[in-house]
Amino acid sequence: MTPQNVAILGATGSIGRSTLDVVARHPDRFRAFALTAHTQADELFELALRHRPRFAVLADGAQARDLRARLAGAGSAVEVLAGADALVSVAAHPEADAVMAAIVGAAGLAPTLAAARAGKKILLANKEALVMAAPVFMAAVRQGGAILLPIDSEHNAIFQCLPQGRHGSLAAGGVRKIVLTGSGGPFRSRPLAELAAVTPDQACAHPTWNMGRKISVDSATMMNKALEIIEAAWLFGAGPDAIEVLVHPQSVIHSMVTYADGSVIAQLGNPDMRTPIAQALAHPDRIDAGVAALDLARIGALTFEAPDFVRFRALALAYDVLAAGGTAPAVFNAANETAVTAFLARDLAFNRITDVIEAALARVAAGPVGSLDDVLEADRAARAAARAALGRTLTATS
Ligand code: NAD
Ligand code: MG
Repeated sequence: MTPQNVAILGATGSIGRSTLDVVARHPDRFRAFALTAHTQADELFELALRHRPRFAVLADGAQARDLRARLAGAGSAVEVLAGADALVSVAAHPEADAVMAAIVGAAGLAPTLAAARAGKKILLANKEALVMAAPVFMAAVRQGGAILLPIDSEHNAIFQCLPQGRHGSLAAGGVRKIVLTGSGGPFRSRPLAELAAVTPDQACAHPTWNMGRKISVDSATMMNKALEIIEAAWLFGAGPDAIEVLVHPQSVIHSMVTYADGSVIAQLGNPDMRTPIAQALAHPDRIDAGVAALDLARIGALTFEAPDFVRFRALALAYDVLAAGGTAPAVFNAANETAVTAFLARDLAFNRITDVIEAALARVAAGPVGSLDDVLEADRAARAAARAALGRTLTATS
């Protein structure tokens, strides 16, 4: 078989590296075609030497020139490109078979949308791109004839638990509910009064998953689960009533589907993103992902709790945002990106992140999504509203 060409957007990140690990285990099946990074030129240099892609992409032109010279000096034939247009061109390249969308945040939207329009097999980790622009993105997937496979562990689990080979509504397939599990993050039971003093490193020390900093903060506020509620609604055509969240601190059950006859089908595994990545890369085959077998006897007990909607207000907001529809998810996502950036820069207290998101949702009215421009305008307005709310929050706490 000819190996599939895999373009990895965000190759230097946590998902990007896990993807390269799986790709490198199966040279007969997959080949790294393009590797992209934002500013991590040294990491991209090493990855390009090791995985020999056709293209390497950095954001900045001067950094790209430097990388080109270093690679040429090392005898490498990798073509180095620069800028947002280069991301789009490798994602939609006629020779790319699959695109791993693993850039963090709204920055991943343009190349992921380009991959959808070009009819690629899209492995979607970049949930923010789907959440902010779902009507436009899903239409592009349909029109481009793209195949969309979820990488988010919960959505990948649900994909595996849904009736296979059936199309049509969830209800027609006998599905009662989608149950998204979440660990509850590092502060599930921390006294609320202590949350104001949480540092970025504490927030990023996730109890079960090792991830990039932005998604780690989202997990600590459960904004990650909030985004995943919206992601599930669009990926699986599920109404808000059909999506539940269940706290499961061990992160062994990655999600489940409950059926009309009382059956519950769950997908289990060690918390290692190489499992969903390998599942989606090889689908419908199964391949080795380098992940140890699950040892339930050693784990002993799996526990569950109802989510605390007072502590984790983002969860309740997600259902409001879904009900509002239109540009509301773009506002929700953009305000969170602004708030998390401020928190990581120590400009905002941890327990104010959700306040900033709420303030932006109150300030920027949701409108219909007729085109990508509506989404981008809502994203811009939400960032401005969030920055204004940050200013007020700083004044209030200083
Ligand atoms: P990360 O921070 O480790 O990596 C992000 C990657 O995106 C890096 O390669 C970086 O260079 C690139 N990047 C960042 N900003 C960019 C920009 N402006 N332009 C171009 N490239 C840019 O993040 P991650 O944890 O790998 O997460 C990536 C995506 O996958 C996120 O959307 C996240 O929600 C999703 N996801 C991650 C995990 C996980 O376990 N890490 C699980 C589920 C979903
Ligand atoms: Mg997830």
